[in-house]
Amino acid sequence: MTAGQPGTDTKAGATASWATSPATRRAMQANRRRDTAPEMAIRRLVQAAGLRYRVDARPLPTARHTADMIFTRARVAVFIDGCWWHGCADHYRPPASNTTYWAGKVTRNRERDLLANEALTAAGWIVVRIWEHEAPESAARRIEAVVRGTATGSVR
Ligand SMILES: [Zn+2]
Repeated sequence: MTAGQPGTDTKAGATASWATSPATRRAMQANRRRDTAPEMAIRRLVQAAGLRYRVDARPLPTARHTADMIFTRARVAVFIDGCWWHGCADHYRPPASNTTYWAGKVTRNRERDLLANEALTAAGWIVVRIWEHEAPESAARRIEAVVRGTATGSVR
């Protein structure tokens, strides 16, 4: 016996309407920040390198920016950005429906990212932004180099 009927391919249906499904939207919101697999892998590697950090913390007590990892003494704030939510050039694809709504959300996220970068840099912090698609090993090495003050060139 086979599941599904011709013409009612549930996978295709779900893909076409994912942006308007409340359940999908809830799942996306739940997945938005905390404890994604790439983030966990990066944390483990950075910890294994002997560095101490705080998770989901505000670098500036007076501002609302919450970084995924902060290194207080080195004044390094790390953001691990989801490809979809932050509009990664390689992986962001506009959804098939509600295009304007979602594109606006991603645009606002990107604007917020830039403002956070500016505010933190102005306050003397170094901002490291990592895409979730980056290999955790190279991301962790980059973080370590910045925190230890041995990084060369751009941090993104
Ligand atoms: Zn990406």
